[in-house]
Amino acid sequence: MSVRIQDYPGTALREDDIRAGRVLTVAGAARAEYAWDVGVAIGRYLEELRNGRLVGVRCHHCGRVLFPPRAFCEQCFRPTTEWVELKDTGVIQTFAICHIAWDARRIDEPKIPAVIAIDGASRAMGLLHLIGGVDPDRVAVGQRVRAVWRPASERQGAITDIRYFTPVEV
Ligand SMILES: [Zn+2]
Repeated sequence: MSVRIQDYPGTALREDDIRAGRVLTVAGAARAEYAWDVGVAIGRYLEELRNGRLVGVRCHHCGRVLFPPRAFCEQCFRPTTEWVELKDTGVIQTFAICHIAWDARRIDEPKIPAVIAIDGASRAMGLLHLIGGVDPDRVAVGQRVRAVWRPASERQGAITDIRYFTPVEV
């Protein structure tokens, strides 16, 4: 049995609802300011990015090294307390070559988002970042990559402190 959109017409906006202010409309650009507490684990992670380092945490119950770090192991439900410094190298687990931006704009130079398994982190810990400095046709699953960091003076304690990951020649 197929479902047709006509079967679920919804409720149309009525002019008198808009005039009476029962429908929220925003004229011009909306302005919203907010603050977000990142917590202990992500707070240190971001601070170490500013220092040009990647860190994870070890769960003493299952022994896994969690990356990005979190305050507790989601498998054991135990707090994580040991910080582990990781290398800024890894392996491409999967990637895509994108010719359109997030807002559906066509872009001339494709972006290459990838999931990267960082060396020293446990299996199935992937970091989503960009691949760069390489011809898109030469990117492959299993390829070794290293982080290309912004200069220290430009880092802000954000994942964008790494410009992208680029293939390591082996
Ligand atoms: Zn665990």
